[in-house]
Order: sequence, then structure tokens, then C-alpha cells
Amino acid sequence: MNIVFLGAPGSGKGTQSKKIEDFFKIVHISTGDIFRQAIKDSTSAGVLAKSFIDKGCLVPDEVTIKIVEERIEKDDCKKGFIFDGFPRTVPQAISYDSLHNNDSFKIDKVIYLKVDEEKLLDRIVNRRVCPKCGASYHMVIKPSKVEGICDLCGHELETRKDDNPESMKVRLEEYKKLTSPLIDYYSKINKLVTIDAMNDIEKVYESILEALK
Ligand code: AMP
Repeated sequence: MNIVFLGAPGSGKGTQSKKIEDFFKIVHISTGDIFRQAIKDSTSAGVLAKSFIDKGCLVPDEVTIKIVEERIEKDDCKKGFIFDGFPRTVPQAISYDSLHNNDSFKIDKVIYLKVDEEKLLDRIVNRRVCPKCGASYHMVIKPSKVEGICDLCGHELETRKDDNPESMKVRLEEYKKLTSPLIDYYSKINKLVTIDAMNDIEKVYESILEALK
């Protein structure tokens, strides 16, 4: 089973992807995480991506498609995967579908996490992440047990560089302009399931499981 999580920044794609990864034992592929790792490793893709990510803009399609194609070739993708943050534009989706519509990498379901803008801003402002294992916390709704320390691996938590009001404004604009047309795209080919993601984490998770059954 290959799944896509679609939604605005702060809609819960990363949190829900991790839960689905644990449940179905399929690998979680976050293009944002791949780019952040590439930036740390100072690879050529990382250096290029950084200039876009820091401003809140999307990384160009051809760079993104290339890193996704490289990632799905790895052995851990054979049993299925969850795309978190890919595709993020219609050209990315068309390019991916044209390559994989008839192979085992074909996308089976797209889970659209629907959240209103006020809630997105609250989630982003209060988000703290673990740079080591990728766990994500909300300072009020889902705080770590020890302040500033990851429950899962004990590493120090940090605020993502692009989780600030200026970048957030651009990220939301990019989402509306470039990513939200994917709702229509996947709906037309009967792959879209819309989930009310305003609820708490467990309720949203239950709805997703229900939809995937
Ligand atoms: P995320 O961790 O999913 O919020 O992604 C962080 C940033 O990485 C985004 O704001 C984009 O700049 C970049 N990014 C992640 N996925 C994509 C994608 N599919 N296409 C273009 N840029 C992306």
C-alpha cells in the first residue's frame, strides 16, 4: 500500500504518518526531512534546497522529483510507503504518476488532512521537533515529558527554522497556490479521502485507519 498525506503546513501530516508507519509497518518518506538531512550533509541538493526552504518557498519540482525517485529505489520501500509532503504541486503529481501508474510504486490513496488556518498557525507556533529522530511536539497539546527533551531519543528539541511567522505566511501562500489544486487532481481520479483534522491526534488517527480499511 502506498499512501500520500496531503495538507497544509501544520495539518498533522508528520504526526499521523509516523503513527500509520508503526501500524502498517510501511516506511514514512518525508521530503522535508530528506531536504533537512541534505542541508546538514551540505550535499548539492541540500545547498540548493536551503535557499528555498529558509524563505518558505517550495524547492523546484525537478530537484524534488529526483530525490523522491532515488528514495523509493531503496529496499525498505518494497512493502509500501507513506509520502509526507510529496507531491506538493500538480506537475510533481503528473510526473510521478506518468512514471509509476503501472508499477508497484503506484499511489493507492491520498489522505487529505483538512484544518482551518487559525489552527494551522497555532500548531506551527507551538511546534518543537527532534532533529535526531524527527518526533514532533506541541508545547501545549502534546508537550514532551521533560521540557525541551525528546521523549523518544533524549535529544534536545528545537524550533524548525521555517516555523516563524514570516516563512509561515509564504508557506501558506505556496500551499494555497501550488499544493491545494492537488485536492481536485486526486479527487477526480477517485483517490482522495478527506479527513477532518481539527480533532485531537487520536481521533484523527482513528478516522484515517477507518478510511484506509
Ligand atoms: P515539510 O517538512 O514537509 O514542512 O517541508 C519543509 C520544506 O521543504 C517545505 O516548506 C519546502 O520548502 C520543502 N519541501 C518539502 N517537500 C517538498 C516538495 N514535495 N516540493 C517542494 N518543496 C518541498
